[in-house]
Amino acid sequence: MKKTTLIIGAGGVGRVVVHKCAMNADVFGNIVLASRTKSKCDSIAREIKDVEIKTAAIDADNTQELVNLIQEIQADIVINVALPYQDLTIMDACIETGVDYLDTANYEHPDEAKFEYKEQWKKDEAFKKAGIMGLLGSGFDPGVTNVFCAYAQKHYFDTIETIDILDCNAGDHGYAFATNFNPEINLREVSANGRYWENGKWIETEPMEIKMVWDYPEVGPKDSYLLYHEEMESLVKHIKGLKRIRFFMTFGESYLTHMKCLQNVGMLGIEPIEHQGQKIVPMEFLKTLLPDPASLGPRTKGKTNIGIVAEGIKDGKKRKVYIYQVSDHEKCFAEVNSQAVSYTTGVPAMIGAKLMLEKVWYKKGVWNMEEFDPDPFMQELNRQGLPWQIKELEL
Ligand code: NDP
Repeated sequence: MKKTTLIIGAGGVGRVVVHKCAMNADVFGNIVLASRTKSKCDSIAREIKDVEIKTAAIDADNTQELVNLIQEIQADIVINVALPYQDLTIMDACIETGVDYLDTANYEHPDEAKFEYKEQWKKDEAFKKAGIMGLLGSGFDPGVTNVFCAYAQKHYFDTIETIDILDCNAGDHGYAFATNFNPEINLREVSANGRYWENGKWIETEPMEIKMVWDYPEVGPKDSYLLYHEEMESLVKHIKGLKRIRFFMTFGESYLTHMKCLQNVGMLGIEPIEHQGQKIVPMEFLKTLLPDPASLGPRTKGKTNIGIVAEGIKDGKKRKVYIYQVSDHEKCFAEVNSQAVSYTTGVPAMIGAKLMLEKVWYKKGVWNMEEFDPDPFMQELNRQGLPWQIKELEL
């Protein structure tokens, strides 16, 4: 029987997921896009020529509304590409209706700049009881980076001792300052303290305290800064024998100077402040001022390169392996009207959902990406627009 796929969130990532699901309509069946602003869903739906995309307005903070919509359209899977704030309400609606769930970012509370899997992992029992699957973090990072780690573990190592996740966006959109995805989520992540894991402990750093230069294939050498990133929380649990894991992201001088300045004047605050008799949240006001990430697509030139470097032991010998994926902003835009940051998130979301619907990746409960066989996912990356490379590095 034809399946029904519900996609929630009509932002940059949502647009890519809709395009890619439509290209795989034999698996996704009827496709419904629901978001807070229905007109945004309609405008994405109009871009898809040969597959009908139905649209709906939804407040994804409201579990009952979600339950009603899921039941009305008889969804088989919910792909959550709204914001991390909605993860728990959408998961609850999936439990109540007995429908599988996937997202690309772990839960964050709107009033606390802290992201972790705890609240979502707690729902494992309820997912098992409801007989459904939840796949967490099926974007690029988290997502593909977790799968790269699982692939390295399966094919290249007996034990992985260290992992560095290396995320480079060398795209240029021509603005002095803009964020490539939701500004609030992006700036909260980047302005937080850094953190990495070594010998069983988390070590905290000041924001941007640790910097290295990495030579990214097809991009060149770039300043890369240590950040905390959510996939590390699950990878330290699931990659056995791991001694250290770090995450680095590239930032240009201009981005960092703007961010520092905005931070110094309080524009990154998430507490409401009094302004001329009104309460405003500085970060939300800043979001209103900044360019909509979705509008960066036609302006962005250059490449992204995201990958992992794993070092460890195989057959008693040390080795170091680099797995990475390079995307080109302009090519992504030509294909799905979105720049590479949305593209590299939306394609893996579609692939995760495809493998779930095909029951290639299917286990009841709540899971992270590295808990599945990486091979089918790696094959799909090559087929669906995210070809990857693997290199043996000198020790
Ligand atoms: P956008 O801000 O562009 O889009 C979010 C969409 O969700 C908007 O359409 C917004 O509606 C909608 N939305 C927000 N709140 C609600 C609500 N309460 N009810 C219904 N709809 C709502 O974000 P992106 O597309 O850039 O990012 C989407 C997700 O992908 C985020 O969770 C982000 O963290 C994640 N991400 C993951 C990455 C990865 O590699 N794993 C990388 C990049 C992003 P409206 O249009 O009305 O505001």
